[in-house]
Amino acid sequence: MIATGYRLRMCVSSKSNASLGNTSTVAMESKKVRSAMINCCACVQRCIALRDWMAVRAASRSLPKVSVFRNTAIKLEVAILQRKDFTIAFRFLKHLDQSGKVINATKWTPDDVPWFLTRLNWVFGAQTNIFFTLVDAKWITVQKALGPKISRDVFRKDIAPLKRRGADLTCFLVGDYAAMDTEAAGEYLPDEQVFVVVDQGNPPVFDLGEAFIGVMAHEIGHFLHHKRNMPGSGHHNRSGILLSSGMESLSLDKQLVTNFNAW
Ligand SMILES: [Zn+2]
Repeated sequence: MIATGYRLRMCVSSKSNASLGNTSTVAMESKKVRSAMINCCACVQRCIALRDWMAVRAASRSLPKVSVFRNTAIKLEVAILQRKDFTIAFRFLKHLDQSGKVINATKWTPDDVPWFLTRLNWVFGAQTNIFFTLVDAKWITVQKALGPKISRDVFRKDIAPLKRRGADLTCFLVGDYAAMDTEAAGEYLPDEQVFVVVDQGNPPVFDLGEAFIGVMAHEIGHFLHHKRNMPGSGHHNRSGILLSSGMESLSLDKQLVTNFNAW
């Protein structure tokens, strides 16, 4: 967002849990921060230079305009949003091979869940003030030979019912999955509040290191979109932004932040 070479980190502290939106990782070195000025609109009460952090105290939720001045003015896209929390469970599939032996369908295990959650809460917490709390993470076993690629019908009939009741959302790791062309690497079922992510993620549309967690974030994006009763699937054509029909990343723009968590 900022192309001037500044490194600035910003946070919001407030009793109302307000938070900056999609600029929480914008960057500026501390010496430059101390020599910079921040000018905020009326809904932000005051700005404090605190070591290498700029603390912005929010008066109310809003989409303020924040500008940082040094040699040139920099406008920051900022959202001050109420915190939202959802619970999530993870299920890892085992099923039978052709000889009737129980095998793991996915390379992922419950031991991977802490980093899943860390990444998800960084993506959604830092950018939209939406956080996910783990209910539990377990292996499940379907006593059938389901084959190497889970069909959509099998997922809905034999696997989705094994979701964690009471969790807002359940994520299934099943290895490979025959997703629709529009999804390719996962699917969210709004009527069940479950989603599935393939082990490999979607390398063609995300940077390599984000291919798997990117698809997980994409499907959670559908969940958040659905929770707001927004029309349509949530896909858009803003390239480089999560839920784009083209190239995606873990970045959310102002429109997506607003869709997920504005008032
Ligand atoms: Zn999608």
